[in-house]
Amino acid sequence: MPSAFITGVTGQDGSYLAEALALQGWELHALTRPVEIEGEQLLPAGVEAHYGDLRDPESIGTALRDARPDAVFNLAGISSVARSWVDPVETSLVTGTAVAAILDAAWRWQEESGSPVSVVQASSAEIFGLPTYIPQSESTRIAPVSPYGAAKAYGHLLVGAYRARGLHASAAVLYNHESPRRSPAFVTRKITSTVARIARGQAHELVLGDLTAKRDWGWAPDYVDAMLRIARHHTADDFVVATGESHSVQDFVDAAFRAAGIDGTGLVRSDPTFIRPVETPELVGDSSKILAELGWAPTVRFDGVVAAMVEYDLSLLAGA
Ligand code: GDP
Repeated sequence: MPSAFITGVTGQDGSYLAEALALQGWELHALTRPVEIEGEQLLPAGVEAHYGDLRDPESIGTALRDARPDAVFNLAGISSVARSWVDPVETSLVTGTAVAAILDAAWRWQEESGSPVSVVQASSAEIFGLPTYIPQSESTRIAPVSPYGAAKAYGHLLVGAYRARGLHASAAVLYNHESPRRSPAFVTRKITSTVARIARGQAHELVLGDLTAKRDWGWAPDYVDAMLRIARHHTADDFVVATGESHSVQDFVDAAFRAAGIDGTGLVRSDPTFIRPVETPELVGDSSKILAELGWAPTVRFDGVVAAMVEYDLSLLAGA
């Protein structure tokens, strides 16, 4: 039975990945903090916990070695650009330095076990910063403009270095990907949960930051499927994972009100508090390489993502 070591298993992508791997008969191991071990229900069923802290490289190495994995998925990190401006040092440790610890441990385990270890790093469109052309691809210049993007860029480049050394290390350059499991720290879930509350008379307005920013929003389970294909591919490489369509935050708001069946006119306000120090106006990815080489294409598009999230948030309130 193949064995996987996952960081970030309690997050959106980690939970979908654990479910997908379990269905395929994988043995699952996860890096967890003590708090997660105590509250074991937080871990998806069947996942073995290995104590470690992303800010402590040695603990990551020990946990990975104990797991004896065939594949490693690094999904953990400070996942929010906004949060990375609040805590840039923690971001560099958790989203950047931890990648070095994981790659080093995977390399050592491969040397010791004598069998190949495949590593998939959840890289990010944020490594491209303020790209001068759209869509972005694997050859777009890496030039981040946030502490989050800079930490992800370091991890991305280090994956290339370990690949050159002989590790099956790949970077999945993930564009925004959403689902009902998304945290409300992200604009999509903030919108759908608030629109659902407005629809139920529990909220009266939706206060956001920049409504003009455009993102390429996909469906998280599709992106997890992409990472699985990348892990299994005979050649390690970097792949952009995106839908190729961009929509503004305003478009998302309009689609969410439509999905909830209400008229949002006059209910949305932009507040400077939510505007970022540096805003990336548009991110949209060209995923033709992963389509050509791995046969991956998104199965759910913008309207489907919005509708699924609104429906879920309405159902949460109906059950309350
Ligand atoms: P990101 O692309 O990884 O930073 O994902 P987010 O969902 O946090 O943000 C997507 C876009 O929505 C960015 O351009 C944000 O500036 C914009 N945005 C506008 N209003 C908000 C808000 O209230 N919260 C968040 N998180 N983002 C907002």
